[in-house]
Amino acid sequence: MVLLLRYRSITINLTPLIPKSHKFHTLQSFRNPNFISTSKISASSNNPTPTTNRSISDAAKFAKSVLFIPPGVEIEELTDDMVLPGSNIVIGPFAGHSQIKEVEFVKSSARARDCPKDDRPEIAILGRSNVGKSSLINCLVRKKEVALTSKKPGKTQLINHFLVNKSWYIVDLPGYGFAKVSDAAKTDWSAFTKGYFLNRDTLVCVLLLIDASVPPQKIDLDCANWLGRNNVPMTFVFTKCDKMKATKGKRPDENIKAFQQIIRENFKVHPPWILTSSVSGLGRDELLLHMSQLRNYWDQ
Ligand code: GDP
Repeated sequence: MVLLLRYRSITINLTPLIPKSHKFHTLQSFRNPNFISTSKISASSNNPTPTTNRSISDAAKFAKSVLFIPPGVEIEELTDDMVLPGSNIVIGPFAGHSQIKEVEFVKSSARARDCPKDDRPEIAILGRSNVGKSSLINCLVRKKEVALTSKKPGKTQLINHFLVNKSWYIVDLPGYGFAKVSDAAKTDWSAFTKGYFLNRDTLVCVLLLIDASVPPQKIDLDCANWLGRNNVPMTFVFTKCDKMKATKGKRPDENIKAFQQIIRENFKVHPPWILTSSVSGLGRDELLLHMSQLRNYWDQ
């Protein structure tokens, strides 16, 4: 079968990062975490080698190297419309029931061990202060003022659990990288948030928000590297992709490519990624669908 993958404007050499400890690791598409495609597609390339002149296995290898292929999808069955627009994410049979019908705030916890203990799956949202985390959460749930995380530097930072459709949690984690945060507050953030990541068995995935309107930030890369080293499954969610004008030098598409280039150098395999905007709604439904397939597979 001929692969009908259309290469997109931001086509880069990415495959998902799936930790050894994670359930997905048992699946065929994640069995070889060291796999890196031999295809030399640069992050800035808009003109990759067309599939038509390549063997099926080369095309399959290429697809595997750039796409997040979820459980239940055979690479030979891939078609263009299975790839979510503005992402490297393939949608598989576990996707479904993605829309949020009701959301209720459950609790704020100061420590991982205080978080809800009902074994529902959860997806945590993390990012630098001002990355657009509250806006994204409100956009996802289509409500104003849902995200409660304290934004004031130095104030107690809490893990906020929101129960969605009575079946799973969105977890709003404290933002990192406050410009004025004290050293003591920084230490607190790192100790308790790291505790959450390392001890939360029901954590399905972390959405690591990256501000596409600014160049790659060391603190984001440090965070991504730490999550990767500790086998925490993550998805890069690029925010503010509607901002077409350069703010600090480059445009969002250039910033995204620069970020992904660095990630490619640091990771053997790479997480899924998706472009979003809370202003225009770009990527909202696609992100919800991606979250649904991660969650539904975890929950089966
Ligand atoms: P948080 O500190 O991470 O919760 O960030 P906020 O959601 O409060 O957003 C920080 C700033 O970025 C605010 O001024 C928002 O209006 C703005 N912002 C958030 N998301 C977007 C977006 O998708 N597009 C644009 N243009 N601005 C955004």
